[in-house]
Amino acid sequence: MTEPTTRHLAPMPDDWQRALAVVAHPDDLEYGCSAAVAAWTDAGREVVYVLATRGEAGIDTLEPATCGPLREREQRASAAVVGVSQVDFLDHRDGVVEYGPALRRDIAAAVRRYRPELVITLNHRDTWGGTYWNTPDHVAVGRATLDAAGDAGNRWIFPELTERGLQPWDGVRWVAVAGSSSPTHAVDATDGMERAVRSLLEHRSYIEALTDEDPETYARGFLTRTAEETGQRFEGRPAVAFELFPR
Ligand SMILES: [Zn+2]
Repeated sequence: MTEPTTRHLAPMPDDWQRALAVVAHPDDLEYGCSAAVAAWTDAGREVVYVLATRGEAGIDTLEPATCGPLREREQRASAAVVGVSQVDFLDHRDGVVEYGPALRRDIAAAVRRYRPELVITLNHRDTWGGTYWNTPDHVAVGRATLDAAGDAGNRWIFPELTERGLQPWDGVRWVAVAGSSSPTHAVDATDGMERAVRSLLEHRSYIEALTDEDPETYARGFLTRTAEETGQRFEGRPAVAFELFPR
């Protein structure tokens, strides 16, 4: 029997036009996903980013009031590098995002607004591969996104959204979780890798606060290493992995 961790990854479905990526913080998508996003926008697909917070608690040496706007600018620039022009912020508080109806409602509102077939989010489980403890924001936002994909289609769960003119959208066909320790699918990262590196580099303030390494060496090293590791399960092609939940 093949262990799940060594299983071959299937290509991600490509019969869709609109994707919505929902994560907790600026940089969550750039740490691994953006090569896939570049491939999708190259193919003429639309991708929208929604961030639960502005990442204002992410840099120890910066007050949240200064940090939030800075990280918002960096996030918009980094999205633009991979062809994403719409970036929304839900303004939950960084570090203490709560899983619950308010978060599900805000994400369901975005799903109804942008009507995606594919929803992307980040690892919602307790740990990263059973080794490192995940942050509460990632867990809350990942879970709420998986739930909101269904909530968005139900007229009666958040009737206030319909009153705001956001009609139910039951068209989400898959939720794909990045950074999962049980991935099932992958996207070829070859063509998007260079832009993925530049996209992560746009989070310069964050990276400079995080490491003494040269930012480009750091960004390129991290993304190349991860994509090549994933590629071992994707016919040797560098890749971005997802755990796909069909709906
Ligand atoms: Zn994060």
